[in-house]
Amino acid sequence: MSVPFIDLKSQYKALKSSIDSRIQKVLDSGAYIGGPEVGELEKRLAEHTGSKYCLAVASGTDALLIPMMALGIGPGDEVITTAFSFIATVETIVLAGATPVYVDIDRKTFNMDPKKIEAAITKKTKAIVPVSLYGQAADLEEINAIGKKHNLFVIEDTAQSYGAKYKDTKSGAITTAAGTSFYPAKPLGCYGDGGAIFTNDDQLVTTMKEIREHGSEKRYFHTRLGLNGRLDTIQCAILLAKMERYDWEVDQRNRIAKNYTEAFQGLEKLDPQFSTPYIKPGNVSVWAQYTLTISNRELFQKKMTELQVPTSVHYPLTLPDQPWYKTHTKVLHDINISRWAAGHVVSLPMYPDMDDQTQKIVIDAVKVAVEFSMKEG
Ligand SMILES: *Cc1c(COP(=O)(O)O)cnc(C)c1O
Repeated sequence: MSVPFIDLKSQYKALKSSIDSRIQKVLDSGAYIGGPEVGELEKRLAEHTGSKYCLAVASGTDALLIPMMALGIGPGDEVITTAFSFIATVETIVLAGATPVYVDIDRKTFNMDPKKIEAAITKKTKAIVPVSLYGQAADLEEINAIGKKHNLFVIEDTAQSYGAKYKDTKSGAITTAAGTSFYPAKPLGCYGDGGAIFTNDDQLVTTMKEIREHGSEKRYFHTRLGLNGRLDTIQCAILLAKMERYDWEVDQRNRIAKNYTEAFQGLEKLDPQFSTPYIKPGNVSVWAQYTLTISNRELFQKKMTELQVPTSVHYPLTLPDQPWYKTHTKVLHDINISRWAAGHVVSLPMYPDMDDQTQKIVIDAVKVAVEFSMKEG
């Protein structure tokens, strides 16, 4: 039996009647853009995260770019971000016209290390973009405090952490703005591309709404530079159905993660670089990925493939080591931990509908593959 990396089909099966009827309702209504489901979803997500406002947008990429445009981040500005993330984090900074300044990550959480931020601040710094990687919120309070002290915006990239708990609040709810993604494989995914922006700022939300709508204050009256950043009604309808069991899904992901971590106790004796994910006290991850570190990743993955268990690497290169960024952006501060992570992380199958039997196949394969990778390495 081969194991899927993510099983979206069984999730659809579980929600089929609700998803199908909600889609049918939109099809019958004819309101394919801007239907009532858009506002309904925005209200639901704002309540769920504890954020004052939510705007549904066309992708996670737009969910990062639109706040930057609205905050006037552009040429001449520096934006501090992590060196270790998905490319959209830095891509949107460059698209906005600003200069990314990379800082290193914490070795245990893989999130931006707040202790490294202040050394990267200059007169040109305008914002900090932390990423809540793999489903765990970044150190938002520490980062907000630095932002406040130096008068900087904080835009959280919450693409992998929708619904993650952070102390008494949630990922997405406490920064200047936050952008999430509903790409199908994200913890909360739709059936196409999608995303959402969160903010508590009355003025910022108005500006971002206009930018989402080609910079228009009213129809065919364009007062600022914008784009088409709308999320269509069908995707909103799908997300409303998915929200019916999202909290249950997060619980399942946490149960599965706990099973993995318990089962892998002791493997660090075989491989000194072996580690299971570390979740800080006060955090509840939504487990976008369950990510190990390992000495000999290639051999490990080779064995896992032989055993028919898929694995994936998020991400094999740091952001500044990606070909385009290597020639167009600069590394000004030490990013050694990010580079180490890029060489040693590997993610395992993770989805809320994984049953115990399937998980046992993965666990047994990991044990075999760790041993193999050390013997052959
Ligand atoms: C997926 C992702 C994005 C971009 O989201 P899209 O919906 O694919 O545009 C941005 N940042 C991070 C960290 C992501 O994982």
